[in-house]
Amino acid sequence: MNDVILETRGLEKHFVIESGLPFRRVSKRIRSVDGIDMRVRAGETFGLVGESGCGKSTTAKLILRLIEPTGGKVIFDGKEVQTATGAALRDFRSNIQTVFQDPYGSLNPRMKVREIIAEPMIAAGGYSARDMDHRVTELLELVNLPANAARRGPHEFSGGQRQRIAIARALALKPRLVILDEPVSALDVSVRAQILNLLDDLQEELGLAYFMISHHLELVANKCDWIAVMYLGRIVEQGPAREIADNPRHPYTQALFSSALKVNPDARTGQVKMIKGEVPSPLRPPSGCHFHTRCPVAMPICKSATPPVVAGPGGSVATCHALKEQRLTA
Ligand code: SF4
Repeated sequence: MNDVILETRGLEKHFVIESGLPFRRVSKRIRSVDGIDMRVRAGETFGLVGESGCGKSTTAKLILRLIEPTGGKVIFDGKEVQTATGAALRDFRSNIQTVFQDPYGSLNPRMKVREIIAEPMIAAGGYSARDMDHRVTELLELVNLPANAARRGPHEFSGGQRQRIAIARALALKPRLVILDEPVSALDVSVRAQILNLLDDLQEELGLAYFMISHHLELVANKCDWIAVMYLGRIVEQGPAREIADNPRHPYTQALFSSALKVNPDARTGQVKMIKGEVPSPLRPPSGCHFHTRCPVAMPICKSATPPVVAGPGGSVATCHALKEQRLTA
């Protein structure tokens, strides 16, 4: 098994929202990320899945240190990220880069491709113009774009080509981990496979680790080594990707993968399980198990008692009363 490159321990991000009249302010706490443990291994792809609003993007911002956590830690390469300063912080920033979902919005239309790809090198400092030109040519070749693309503007390229430019920029500082935030969901179906194949080739060639955020479950099931499933700020299940996709245990994971992949239909009826209703507002999360308002097998205890947190090989998960009973009776 590869070494752990990135770890979160009890990571939390709470936002306080104030409302009401000036003399009658009411404060509410949103537990956007509520104590999550994850381990990303070098050279592997870790997938974080869940519906919109479950806390995936906030988790990515915490990992990138774009926001500070309310509690817990992010550890990269054995060092705590939140306390890093000076050279250690610069080293961390070089080693984690991001490819965003929208290749149209993420590339500045007023810049040439050369400047876009060189941006991280300019920000890091210490590169001559000649070094940067050389590296930009190298990166364009790596993502299968011609060297003369450097002199053109991003508007001259298709969506798939723009995503190649974004990937080249992310690789400029030779990172060890790349956060892929819905990397192909804004692209035409016809070019998605090309970008995914490119990401596979780059991972193999450069030994990259990927942290993939996606609600595209088929993609995550096929491309990831490990999957963590998030619901209203908590990880409810995590494990090897094939195991999670083929044999999910938590009722939320079962419903999520059953409706998306048409796997694991109900044993009695043969029906695909659907998740009913919307994700509740994180401002008013349901008591007990957050999933009880939508869970097909909820029991009275689920409304009042938070399910136990159990430790696993990838970190602890907020599990399920039904699973606990199964284990106790097994
Ligand atoms: Fe469903 Fe209860 Fe398990 Fe939550 S704890 S997933 S409501 S059975």
